[in-house]
Amino acid sequence: MPGMAPILQVENLKTHFASREGVVKAVDGVSFAIGAGETLCVVGESGSGKSITARSIMGILQKPGRIAAGQILFRKKDGAVVDLAALAPKGPEFRAIRGSEIAMVFQEPMSALSPVHTIGSQIAESAEIHMGLSRRAAMDRAAEVLDRVGFPNARQRLDAYAFQLSGGMRQRVAIAMALTCEPSLLIADEPTTALDVTTQAVILDLLADLSDTLDMALLFITHDLGVVAQIADSVVVMYLGEVAERGPADTLFAAPRHPYTRGLMRCIPEVGRAGTMETIPGIVPHPLNRPAGCPFNTRCPEAIAGLCDVAEPPLTSFAGDGAVACHLYGEYARGRAVHG
Ligand code: SF4
Repeated sequence: MPGMAPILQVENLKTHFASREGVVKAVDGVSFAIGAGETLCVVGESGSGKSITARSIMGILQKPGRIAAGQILFRKKDGAVVDLAALAPKGPEFRAIRGSEIAMVFQEPMSALSPVHTIGSQIAESAEIHMGLSRRAAMDRAAEVLDRVGFPNARQRLDAYAFQLSGGMRQRVAIAMALTCEPSLLIADEPTTALDVTTQAVILDLLADLSDTLDMALLFITHDLGVVAQIADSVVVMYLGEVAERGPADTLFAAPRHPYTRGLMRCIPEVGRAGTMETIPGIVPHPLNRPAGCPFNTRCPEAIAGLCDVAEPPLTSFAGDGAVACHLYGEYARGRAVHG
């Protein structure tokens, strides 16, 4: 979005958890930006820090997590830019933003839905609180957003309870609830992981369509690069709390640079080639046992002994098409081109 200020700009975010064994650096210097109508996917294995990044932005970190450094610059609907990292997560300013200007959808819709209230009253409550609507107008708004997410016979089914619905329909309700106040940023944390493949595709289409038609920024968290390929405009690949690679989705899929990104791509199942899918050997180390040098060096098939296990690669930018943190593209590669 040339010339337009991003909706969200995360700068050098560090989110740490103090523990008896030491400080767990779950997110350690992550930067990215999202514009209106753009879908940015943050991808990585479990333990990469992607969900903690989302929770840091939303101001819903669990204790003892805290933002240790960095900025989370959010452009509000009135044009003012606030640093969410500097706001008290439970303070009035953050509460006014959360739910109305930034909303979140989780993997398990029941974590957002009450089992003892009808879906209509739950959505209406959000409209009453954040939009100041009367009960009747709020119920109208509930029917409208349910209709918008493709919930069949929405007006007639406002009295339904979440437990009466399928997983896919529950996720539609959770998305409708998130959309009630027309947020300019929607954060979706693995929203399709618990769904069957067919429903997953339907919900992905829905989110992509909503992002386009409502001009909403969508921050999508997933472990699945196959999902990323379907919806992302841009991608951030995270490993052990750091950015391994980021860039436009088409560039990243056409020519992945980081060995970790290439490994994740080999894990995407190919239609008609069941059984050929690979996995990346080994597991993500615990952040308290972060290896010296490049965080990926214990699993990297291209690691350079004496360099990758000693020196951390800086994030090297490529004009207009992203950045990668890998010695194969930094000073080492340039030196090799000159000397070797
Ligand atoms: Fe592999 Fe070295 Fe690049 Fe890290 S810096 S990804 S270990 S080649």
